[in-house]
Amino acid sequence: MVTWPGDPPVRTARVSDMEKGDGATLTRLDMGVHAGTHMDAPLHFLREGKSIDEAPFDALIGPARVIEVEDPEMIRAEALRSAGLFPGERVLLKTLNSSRNWPEQSFDPDFVHMSAEAAAHLAEAGVRTVGVDYLSVGGYRRDGADVHRHLLGAGIWIIEGLHLGGVPSGRYDLICLPIKLAGCEGAPARAVLRRWHDSDG
Ligand SMILES: [Zn+2]
Repeated sequence: MVTWPGDPPVRTARVSDMEKGDGATLTRLDMGVHAGTHMDAPLHFLREGKSIDEAPFDALIGPARVIEVEDPEMIRAEALRSAGLFPGERVLLKTLNSSRNWPEQSFDPDFVHMSAEAAAHLAEAGVRTVGVDYLSVGGYRRDGADVHRHLLGAGIWIIEGLHLGGVPSGRYDLICLPIKLAGCEGAPARAVLRRWHDSDG
C-alpha cells in the first residue's frame, strides 16, 4: 500500500506458519502509525499535545457529515464556508482523491489537500473531527505543518487516509476507532459510516 514519502513501508511477515508445519500462524506487523486510514493526535505537531490513547470517544463516534468538495486542487475555505459548519460537528471531506483507488497506487504529490485558510476556518467553526481522503490533510511540500497546527491547536481530531469512493455526501453515523497506542502521536484506525435514515431523526 502507498505511504507518505519517507515513512516506513507497511510490511507483514509470518513469524510462524501452519503452512510450514508450525503449530499456529502468527504475523509480525511493521509500519509507521500514519499509514492507511489513521488518526493524528495533537502530539503529532504540538509538543505538549494529547496522544492518541487520550482521544475522547465523542471525537470518534457520533453523527458526521460527508461534504463533497469538487475543486480538483484544493479544499478551500470558501467551499467550507458555503457548507455551513457548526461547532462540535464531525466532518468528512470527500474530494476527487476518492474517485480513484489511491491506496494501491504510487504516491501522488498533487493529491487534493486542504489550504491553511481552510484549516483556520475549520478551527474557527469549532468542529470536533475532520476526515480527509488522502494520507495527509496538508499538501506535499506545501504548508502541511500549518494546516496540522491550525486543526490540532484548536482541539480538532484528524482522520487521514479515508477512502470515500461510493459514499454520497450526506449525514451518517461515524465510528472511527484508532488503536490505543500509549503515548503515540497517531494510530491506524478502522473507520465505518452508517447511513442515516429519515426515521432516525
Ligand atoms: Zn497522520
